[in-house]
Amino acid sequence: MPLYEYRCQKCDHLFELFVRLGREPELKCPRCGSTEVRKAFSLFGTTAAGSASGSTSSGAACAPSG
Ligand SMILES: [Zn+2]
Repeated sequence: MPLYEYRCQKCDHLFELFVRLGREPELKCPRCGSTEVRKAFSLFGTTAAGSASGSTSSGAACAPSG
């Protein structure tokens, strides 16, 4: 079974997904549940070297009550 990498456009979470031949998988982020995911390149594997841009993750202050 082919394995593809997908990246969530919402939380930027990278996850793998098994894709069946001729069938599109349910593109859903396992983290936030968003369906805004894009296919990532998995041929090159993990990126070891590259231009690292300063990332400042500003977490949401308000949390869901419950
Ligand atoms: Zn997500």
